[in-house]
Amino acid sequence: MEIQVLGAHQYESKGRRLTSFLVDGVLAIDAGSLTSALSLAEQQRIKHLLLTHHHFDHTRDLVTLGANAAFCGWGQVKVYAIQDTLDVVVPCLLDGRMYIDFLSYPSEGAACMAVEPLEPNVRRDIEGYEVLPLPVRHSVSCVGYHVASADGKSLFYTGDTTSGISECWREISPQLILSRCRGSMSTGTGSGKSATCRRDSSGMNWSSSGG
Ligand SMILES: [Zn+2]
Repeated sequence: MEIQVLGAHQYESKGRRLTSFLVDGVLAIDAGSLTSALSLAEQQRIKHLLLTHHHFDHTRDLVTLGANAAFCGWGQVKVYAIQDTLDVVVPCLLDGRMYIDFLSYPSEGAACMAVEPLEPNVRRDIEGYEVLPLPVRHSVSCVGYHVASADGKSLFYTGDTTSGISECWREISPQLILSRCRGSMSTGTGSGKSATCRRDSSGMNWSSSGG
């Protein structure tokens, strides 16, 4: 399992990007910096996207990724989130009032985006990964994601919570933890977020690309 930290900040400036992660180049988690951090060829590989919650710094690139998928004819990107998140994201960003109606463009039967609600605490198979959304504390409805690959690797991204995730450990025992600390992200591997590419004790690769 290879994890790219595309962005890990709550504010954006040159060299600092909003929150997004990419697993093995194909499964994205949050959409703060997907298009600013990735080439078109890299973006085209993303067919599945998990959202932790609706805050703008985690969802903004839904619009730019959707537009790129639409204009370049990449096929469909499926967006997964709990219903509370979709209830905000769809009418604010995706249904045509902001830009394009991504859920029906270019046609109803072949839209460039689709949304699918996830049930908290229910495991789903997505793109060959076992994905478990776990509720976490935040100012709005939010989940963290435990993602496990077929070869036995696993990560847990805690979303925008800073405390109160002890209940999660009843359900999971991840090899890598991505968690928010004051002002930026940290990892449970103990080396900080500035590494460019390394292998941690779990055997997973993770990298930060300046975000
Ligand atoms: Zn938030």
